[in-house]
Amino acid sequence: MPQWNCACANCVAARTGKIEPQTQSSIAVSADSGEFQGWWLINASPDLARQIESTPSLQPRHDSPRNTPIAGVLLGNFDIDHALGLLLLRQQQKPLVVYAADETRAALAWLDGVLARFCGIEWRKISADFQSLIGGIAFRVIQLPHSVAFQLRDDTSGRLALIAPAVGKLTRELADAVEESEVILFDGTFWSDHELATVRAYARSAREMNHLPISEGSFDVLRQSPACRKIYTHINNTNPILMPGSRERTEVEQVGIEIARDGLEILL
Ligand SMILES: [Zn+2]
Ligand SMILES: [Zn+2]
Repeated sequence: MPQWNCACANCVAARTGKIEPQTQSSIAVSADSGEFQGWWLINASPDLARQIESTPSLQPRHDSPRNTPIAGVLLGNFDIDHALGLLLLRQQQKPLVVYAADETRAALAWLDGVLARFCGIEWRKISADFQSLIGGIAFRVIQLPHSVAFQLRDDTSGRLALIAPAVGKLTRELADAVEESEVILFDGTFWSDHELATVRAYARSAREMNHLPISEGSFDVLRQSPACRKIYTHINNTNPILMPGSRERTEVEQVGIEIARDGLEILL
């Protein structure tokens, strides 16, 4: 936000400096292990290059000409806004390691083809059972319609984090994960089901776009969750929770749910 062709209230406010512009959602995870290549990205946004430049721990060390602390990428689905960032990592020397569902890998065959001429992709399988990601952190996936959510586990404390930026449906398994996780980053794309119809004629509804809206969707679920931190992420530029002082933002904040922003750091 702002989106290049959008003149909704939020995008206008972001252009005139009334609210802070935001890059497209992407998450980086690491353990406190001191291991250099200890960072994994969850989704690779089209703004990835800028996000790396504003995050010193994701930048190369000075002791060799080419290196990166980013070990690879976990993809939740094949949306353009989650996969385009892979193209920005093409200059790396060894193949880019990407964990994804078979459905995602198949849909991204075009991107696989483009990257084959550069670093190439080393695809890895995801699993519903925990597998080690880096020293100290394991992860598993929760299958949703056309996407997966990730659950991360700190091996020392056993504490869990749920990363679910694209949720089409609240399944039983996802509801269980919401109950048992200490930290939750959840799909905050749209406030209402018909939000996009206000800026674009014949726009699909939130649910048709595989996003459970906040109101009459995820709000009550998150409100009732016992997690220490509950955070809406992957927020579309039209969503009224981005506007300070809006009724919708106040409603969310009053029940202790946070609204993600660029540079937000979370300790599990
Ligand atoms: Zn907009
Ligand atoms: Zn997305």
